[in-house]
Amino acid sequence: MSCPQCQAGVCSHCLSLCLSVDIIAEKVLSALCESNYQVLRVSLQLNLPPSFVIRRRLSTTNVDVKEMLRSKIAKHISSNGFELHSPGMPEDIVVELQVTHQEAEDQLKTLFQKIVPTTRQSKNKRHKNNDMSQTDVDIILKRATDEDLQSILETSLATECALHVNISRQSVFVTGRYMKFARGVSQSPWTIGNERHGSGCVSDFIALDIESKYSAESHKFHGAGREDIDVRMLGNGRPFVLELINCKVLPTDEGLMAIQENVINTNEAGSVMVRELKLSDKSCMTVVVAGETNKRKQYSAIVWSAKKLSKLELEKKLDCIQDMEIEQNTPVRVLHRRTSMYRTKIIHSCRCEYINSHFFIMRLEASAGTYIKEFVHGDFGRTVPSVGSLLDSNTDIIQLDVEAVIMS
Ligand SMILES: [Zn+2]
Repeated sequence: MSCPQCQAGVCSHCLSLCLSVDIIAEKVLSALCESNYQVLRVSLQLNLPPSFVIRRRLSTTNVDVKEMLRSKIAKHISSNGFELHSPGMPEDIVVELQVTHQEAEDQLKTLFQKIVPTTRQSKNKRHKNNDMSQTDVDIILKRATDEDLQSILETSLATECALHVNISRQSVFVTGRYMKFARGVSQSPWTIGNERHGSGCVSDFIALDIESKYSAESHKFHGAGREDIDVRMLGNGRPFVLELINCKVLPTDEGLMAIQENVINTNEAGSVMVRELKLSDKSCMTVVVAGETNKRKQYSAIVWSAKKLSKLELEKKLDCIQDMEIEQNTPVRVLHRRTSMYRTKIIHSCRCEYINSHFFIMRLEASAGTYIKEFVHGDFGRTVPSVGSLLDSNTDIIQLDVEAVIMS
């Protein structure tokens, strides 16, 4: 079925799309076959030129070209062995057919400029890249006269539509936990200007091999919080989600396990290890994001005190801490990138191990986002109370490890 107005030349009702439905379906199928993606199922996305809505509105026929195209393409690719996405299933491969028509676009722009005051046009950022949006089309439909709209159909077109098929995969999510045994390793690449600092980063250690094994375009590393570059991450490790952007091959749990055992965990440097690497779905992001605010962490710190301390003092002043509230103003060391504000944090528990009169080990459990270094030295009075104020001494933190991240 084609639109009754179709005739010699380019049809101003359907931009002659209905005459080329078969050719378009074939083009989409071959793009999909040649793309080298491992395909589970296919979702279709059709983007027709913005003026199409107006053409369809004015059309006196009930031929829905977009629907015609969609069903033809769907039929064509499914009869060639591809499964189509159905509601309720996770999305996999997205095949996007972009149909553009420069002449029609220019025509629409001219009309838009005619009926919308220039002041309003300039407010609209979209016009900077010169593309008409759905909102612009709605404005035209609202404001244009019948003659204006009719003129769209009556102007003859000399060129045909341009087609572009874009194939991509929805993000794939891999979860795991990482341990960091060395100091000087940041969680994400640490750059100042164009220069990289530190000795590698956790996300590169983990992600680059996975990215290349599954031919992903790029990745995003989402940690459930982060530790400072000079802090080790021990114990069961910190949960993370690795989001693989547009990967051609789908990871499997077995494949990921092999990477974990043979690549990441045998890395010469040995500074980063990974456990529980497995395939997940988008819902894992909620867990990691919630973990940023809900989790508790256990730390172990070596603390120095200017004043001589006895074992008994540590027991009396620190070991008794239980769900103690502290007020932390944004630390001086992060003020350049975070807004200055007070946050209430909780030190759930604290146990000290006496080394000598100036040094002790402190093991504590604190709520998510507590600045531990500042809790120890007080940050010029910006954290109250602090270990220093509780001991009535100048204290500083010599080294810090995260011993557990407890997701609750
Ligand atoms: Zn037509």
